[in-house]
Amino acid sequence: MKKLRHVLGISGGKDSAALAIYMRNKFPDIDIEYYTSDTGKELDETYRLVENLEGYLGKKIVRLKAFEDSPEAPFDHKLKSLGGFLPSQRFRWCTKTLKLDVFERFVGDDPVISYVGIRHDEAREGYISKKDNIQSIFPFRRNIWSEDVINKLLAPANLNEVISCLERVIDSSKQDRFKHLLKSTTSLTFTREKKLDRLFDLGVPDFNYLVFNFLQSTAYPLSKCDSFPLLDKVDVQIREDVFKILEDSGVGIPGYYKEIDFEVNGKKSSYCRSRSGCYFCFYQQKIEWVWLYEQHPDKFKLAMEYEKDGYTWNDDLSLGELIQPERIVAIKEEYIKRSARTKKGSSGLLVDILEDSEAEGCASCFI
Ligand code: SF4
Repeated sequence: MKKLRHVLGISGGKDSAALAIYMRNKFPDIDIEYYTSDTGKELDETYRLVENLEGYLGKKIVRLKAFEDSPEAPFDHKLKSLGGFLPSQRFRWCTKTLKLDVFERFVGDDPVISYVGIRHDEAREGYISKKDNIQSIFPFRRNIWSEDVINKLLAPANLNEVISCLERVIDSSKQDRFKHLLKSTTSLTFTREKKLDRLFDLGVPDFNYLVFNFLQSTAYPLSKCDSFPLLDKVDVQIREDVFKILEDSGVGIPGYYKEIDFEVNGKKSSYCRSRSGCYFCFYQQKIEWVWLYEQHPDKFKLAMEYEKDGYTWNDDLSLGELIQPERIVAIKEEYIKRSARTKKGSSGLLVDILEDSEAEGCASCFI
């Protein structure tokens, strides 16, 4: 029987880095393989973060690269084969080829637990591999299980089996409450999310042991082990915790999160970059492009060179148009207005404002 592997991907973002530190400190007995998928176009801060982390973890972080035999950076190699067709939110070939495919090759057919740094304060699921041998676990959340596992557990067709598991692992004094909830049907007012919350409210470890026991009869990778230390975990981690984990460890917060002041037409504000990933990533907002132009002009120039074949990173304007002085002023003013509106309903942290206004983005690049 193949041995179960535990893997954790370092994207260069704060959350996956903090997760690596958290897992090392909280669950030192889990032998985790760390990896990072390098497009060859990451920010310098990402490469530095990976090195810092290696020092802290005392373990090598495996560099995965697509097209290993090519002398070019993986991104450039693929781009050339596509005739200069730049990726975009609609045609995100870069994530698939340079991140997901290399990861799936790395794990092969081995049963794998993949730890993902989505936080408790985020409402997103992130990348779930379609491969049956890869199971995602979310240690920062109260609900460490992936959507597909929960769907299976709550499926009416599996109710009898779940009840049998429950009778094996949950204290008899609590069984009736669990059964009542598991049997209750969802409605517009009693949603599936509410049902799940109530189940967790009855006892996080109890619920986790129930799921774990249920998984023993499935082909999920966790069915390959007799115990799993995260079943007893009750803590959750939110954004502030992640910054604290990075600071306390000495690994540090990636430099691109540092807020830099600017002034436009007498109005003051600050900007930074909200995510890791390639320096030219098409997910960045216009204010982040301005940040790149003003703070890393060499990188901006390189990003502009990719537009030579007629494709552009943004749908509505080229980078050459974006850096026209009047356009930069307009982008900064619009950003100041938007920040003021968003600040009312959020933490007020700049990185939140930038992130919250985006759709999910690329979980494998930014977590
Ligand atoms: S960071 Fe952006 S450009 Fe780079 S691989 Fe991810 S989605 Fe593509």
